[in-house]
Amino acid sequence: MFSTSPSDREKKIFWQEMWRHEFEEAVKHDPVVIVPTGSVEQHGPHSPMDVDVVGPLHIAIKTANQINDFPVIVTPPVWSGFAHYNLGFAGTISLGMDTYRNLVLDICRSIYANGFRRIVLLNGHGGNHAPNATIKHQLSQENIFILTLSWWELVKDEMAKLSSSDGSDVGHGGEWETSVQLYLRSHLIAKDRMVPDRDLTNPFSPKVQEFMGGWGAFAERRRDTEKGSGTMGNPLAASAEKGEAIVQAAAGKLSLLITEYHNLPVREYKEFGSYCP
Ligand SMILES: [Zn+2]
Repeated sequence: MFSTSPSDREKKIFWQEMWRHEFEEAVKHDPVVIVPTGSVEQHGPHSPMDVDVVGPLHIAIKTANQINDFPVIVTPPVWSGFAHYNLGFAGTISLGMDTYRNLVLDICRSIYANGFRRIVLLNGHGGNHAPNATIKHQLSQENIFILTLSWWELVKDEMAKLSSSDGSDVGHGGEWETSVQLYLRSHLIAKDRMVPDRDLTNPFSPKVQEFMGGWGAFAERRRDTEKGSGTMGNPLAASAEKGEAIVQAAAGKLSLLITEYHNLPVREYKEFGSYCP
């Protein structure tokens, strides 16, 4: 699964390819484990279903490959996410909130049980963003302290600077997600099917909508975009060059973040007198 030939790489980075003795050696060096979280769901008429899986997976691979001072290991991506609002279009496979949360919680708990103390959930799907934060808070009471972020949070400035349409908004199958796919897998983007479309974020009451929040509000992709295409943003503005620039920038920022995380001591929360079960 997601293997590349050994000649492509100088070191192993995939959890699922490692041997037992390699795990035992890795845990001695304050390793960081990246778990990409994504979704299989519609991304407009021009995109494949796994846009949100492939983006964070490749950013994780690039990051792991550019850090040589300590082990960075990439697990198989979580391919299904909290994506009920995309079920109105063909191709979406969604998990319920509790299923998703429990799945990712158990993955993190297992990684921790293997001796790995530093875990990063690198997310590529907007619907997983809030659930991942909840997972982080839930794990903290189990003495497991993880980082959760969505890849576009790392590169807001770069997106704003490089964009010719969508600015720093990652959208949905728009300029940015389509650029990343054109860079990574251009054969899976149907250029003749692209539809620029617009998010109708505040169709009813801007005031109420503000406090419902993006993912707590009515969000059904068939009806909450102007043309009902399921796209948010402008895929016509996408290019492989922009995709490459943003993936490289995200991997660079993530490498810095992960290095800081690695350098920090792991704090033990559950010690006598500081914790009430
Ligand atoms: Zn997406």
